[in-house]
Amino acid sequence: MPRLNSALQALYGRVLRRNPGEAEFHQAVHEVLESLDLVTMRHPEYLESGIIERICEPERQIIFRIPWVDDSGKVRINRGFRVEFNSALGPFKGGMRFHPSVYLGVIKFLAFEQTFKNALTGLPIGGAKGGSDFDPKGKSEGEIMRFCQSLMTELYRYLGEHTDVPAGDIGVGEREIGYLFGQYKRITNRFESGVLTGKGLSLSGSTVRKEATGYGVVMFTEHMLATRNKTLDGCRVVVSGSGNVALYAIQKATQMGATVVACSDSTGYVHEPKGLDLDLLFQVKEHERQRLSEYARRRGRGVEYVEGGRVWNVPAEVALPCATENELDVEDAKQLIENGVVAVAEGANMPTTPAAIDLFQEAGVLFGPGKAANAGGVATSALEMQQNASRDSWSFEYTEQRLAEIMEGVHERCATAAERYGRPGDYVLGANIAGFMRVADAMLAQGVI
Ligand code: NDP
Repeated sequence: MPRLNSALQALYGRVLRRNPGEAEFHQAVHEVLESLDLVTMRHPEYLESGIIERICEPERQIIFRIPWVDDSGKVRINRGFRVEFNSALGPFKGGMRFHPSVYLGVIKFLAFEQTFKNALTGLPIGGAKGGSDFDPKGKSEGEIMRFCQSLMTELYRYLGEHTDVPAGDIGVGEREIGYLFGQYKRITNRFESGVLTGKGLSLSGSTVRKEATGYGVVMFTEHMLATRNKTLDGCRVVVSGSGNVALYAIQKATQMGATVVACSDSTGYVHEPKGLDLDLLFQVKEHERQRLSEYARRRGRGVEYVEGGRVWNVPAEVALPCATENELDVEDAKQLIENGVVAVAEGANMPTTPAAIDLFQEAGVLFGPGKAANAGGVATSALEMQQNASRDSWSFEYTEQRLAEIMEGVHERCATAAERYGRPGDYVLGANIAGFMRVADAMLAQGVI
């Protein structure tokens, strides 16, 4: 890891002591502090005011018990989390994740990243994240519903359209948001549509919300490529994951003329040099919730399924990690560079390890960090909140146009900040600085908060 100046190093030490054993959170904080080295040289007032340390401390952290009854009548217990990190710019906003790997350190890192990501959109939203160590795999519809209802029975008291507005993330899609919304409505006796985003269209959800993160990643990639007079048209693309973000990144990249040659799930990957069959992929993954091995089985010849393999071994000009944190390491980066990768954009949050990012940047590969590249999801959630507040619903075309403008703005903010601090094309630096300055200035304007 690059060194921090002595003041930031001391501050980082205090963050470590206050948040022991939370490796993902430490990693996310360190990455932001590295970028702030340059900022504090020009603006020592950010250090003197103590604002950096305050930004690293969540406003509120909620941990709670979620008891529920499985189909056999047995009582099960999970743990729920909501980290309300920063509300300087607007109501707390960020998704809920259901995955067995969830613990406080994961949710805290996601909420920290979310704070800067939301700032980068230019929209009035604060940062939060939540979730549970509940594993939705293999659970029945009834079990998922009872779990969601039990979670909301505790969480509802901290939410509100002007207070904290959750959405989906890994393991939480339209179905789960529907169950959470239904329980919130029963408990509060309010049809408060703006309290959750990612709702189905029948519950006053927004068009483009389910597509937004994946579409936004591809839009961001296109802007990065344009700085080198390139486009996605004709590129081979490799994507990790095959969930919400991955599927819609695959769809948009294909619409833009790219050939998506591979995608993965947690057990393996499929490789199809002529391009994936999108109809079958959506049928198997989105509608039937099956494994990729099933896609390969039905697709037959022409597709290779590699169980337990690394999707990053597949040659491509563009790589989009869209599964989970730290899923692309140094060995993967070396392989991608050797295979001639030109651009990498993070659909997932923190999927690339710090050493792998360094390798990409040293090799001149365009690198779009998640807090910029995947901001399209939360941005469209904010558009959903706008529609809910005005009891309106916008067309797909209009909403997608708004998303495109927002992604252009995110790219512009990152590029301008990177240039201003002497590192043109360094989107990691640009995203961290632009996001930090918007949040820090809003906090300072509100006194000691
Ligand atoms: P989904 O649950 O829809 O899909 C997740 C995908 O990633 C699945 O293919 C899953 O495979 C794979 N995956 C999950 N965990 C692991 C793991 N530990 N190891 C290997 N593969 C894994 O989630 P989303 O698509 O919504 O989210 C994906 C990423 O994008 C996350 O990092 C999330 O934080 C980020 N993100 C999501 C946004 C959204 O709007 N949904 C917004 C911004 C960022 P399997 O099915 O085998 O588990």
